[in-house]
Amino acid sequence: MKVIVLGSGILGTASAWFLNKSGHDVTVIERQPGAAQETTFANGCQISVSHSEPWSNPSAPMKVLKWLGQEDAPLLYRFRPEWLQWEWGVRFLRECTAARTAYNIRQCLAMADFSLKTVQAVRAETGIEYDCLTRGIMHFFTDRQDFEASSKGAQLMTSLGCPRHMISADEVIRLEPSLAPIKDKIVGGDYTPTDETGDAHNFTVGLAQKAAEAGVEFRYSTTATRLLTEGAGSAAKITGVEVIDATGKYQVLQADAFVVSMGSFAAPFLKPLGIKLMIYPAKGYSATFPVLKPDAAPYVSLIDVAKKLVFARLGDRLRVGGTAEMNGYGRELNMVRCEQLKIRAREMFPDACDWDQPNYWSGLRPMTPSNIPYIGRSKIGNLFLNVGHGTLGWTMGCGSGRAIADIVSGQRPEVNFAFTGL
Ligand SMILES: Cc1cc2nc3c(=O)[nH]c(=O)nc-3n(C[C@H](O)[C@H](O)[C@H](O)COP(=O)(O)OP(=O)(O)OC[C@H]3O[C@@H](n4cnc5c(N)ncnc54)[C@H](O)[C@@H]3O)c2cc1C
Repeated sequence: MKVIVLGSGILGTASAWFLNKSGHDVTVIERQPGAAQETTFANGCQISVSHSEPWSNPSAPMKVLKWLGQEDAPLLYRFRPEWLQWEWGVRFLRECTAARTAYNIRQCLAMADFSLKTVQAVRAETGIEYDCLTRGIMHFFTDRQDFEASSKGAQLMTSLGCPRHMISADEVIRLEPSLAPIKDKIVGGDYTPTDETGDAHNFTVGLAQKAAEAGVEFRYSTTATRLLTEGAGSAAKITGVEVIDATGKYQVLQADAFVVSMGSFAAPFLKPLGIKLMIYPAKGYSATFPVLKPDAAPYVSLIDVAKKLVFARLGDRLRVGGTAEMNGYGRELNMVRCEQLKIRAREMFPDACDWDQPNYWSGLRPMTPSNIPYIGRSKIGNLFLNVGHGTLGWTMGCGSGRAIADIVSGQRPEVNFAFTGL
């Protein structure tokens, strides 16, 4: 079958890789000059099965309210005259009950766990280099109430097969000695040895190269402008995608099936077809610093629960990522939010990095209110979705790609997940 994949972030690239493996003739359309130039470019780099917790949870509404208008808040909702943003907010609140949270954790965890095994298999098969570390992920807490409240989540994860164990403050320091400068502030943590980290951008670029060698056509600097349809109701089908290339030339490309992996831009792109995706961009930031003293920077990947920041060691770089701003599709850098990352990183690891050489970046997480992505068939028979992975796109990326390839091929994926339209 001829399949066109729209978007070449981690989701589109993994989809293309597995579609090619399933025997399809695959073309990828990407508006940037290469793979992984948007949200997959400089994210937190954690493959964090243990962090399969949606932002929507029973404590979220009060926290979001408290943070309203606070420029350096970890999650900042800036109200805009946009219907999608308001509707998204209402749906987010509905996902904050204990029952919905437990369901959403189970869904995210199932896909994340499947994906961890899949990325390990891809790594073994392809040998892609992406500063991968298999040293686990540790949440650490500086607030006793947060620490005590987290044990329920850790127990649930462990009961679902993800070994996230509570540990004392001393164990936190034993596992990651570089945290010693803030030892007095840490009240405890939890540790999941099976989690991993690695540079999502380098992995995706490597996978795109391998996919191209295997026969996938990548059309970079080519923007999809609209999908063309014929028929109506259950007989509706996509006949082609209109694209414009770097020279300004319009063209219609035809295929038997289409997979949408356009991150946050999937929602406005599909709206004219009557397909309403509840995906809204949550702008996040990262800062990357050159490491000067290797042993003063962490090797175990960290989640600073109080500040909602993640830390990942990428060879001779340290990446700090986090914060969220619900404020439309712009990616301009807010220096207050950038500086927050540097201040916290420097406080934790004062001698580790050259703090005067930050590389700041922002990206748009394609968020659904539940953090459960759309993976599966849309209401148009030959139009498929692999999009909306929010905070966990790198964690769920390879598994989602493998799953969508199975679905396009008419097979049931090997993971128990609430696939769209199945
Ligand atoms: C600060 C931050 C930290 C994060 N940390 C982590 C983490 O530690 N672990 C984790 O699992 N996840 C993390 N994430 C989330 C993760 O980065 C995303 O979920 C993931 O990158 C989304 O991938 P994607 O392929 O859906 O989107 P993208 O990477 O944005 O890819 C979509 C692609 O579609 C293309 N496109 C869009 N419109 C068009 C068009 N009209 N025509 C052609 N091409 C188009 C874009 O150019 C883009 O390349 C983080 C995100 C942020 C912002």
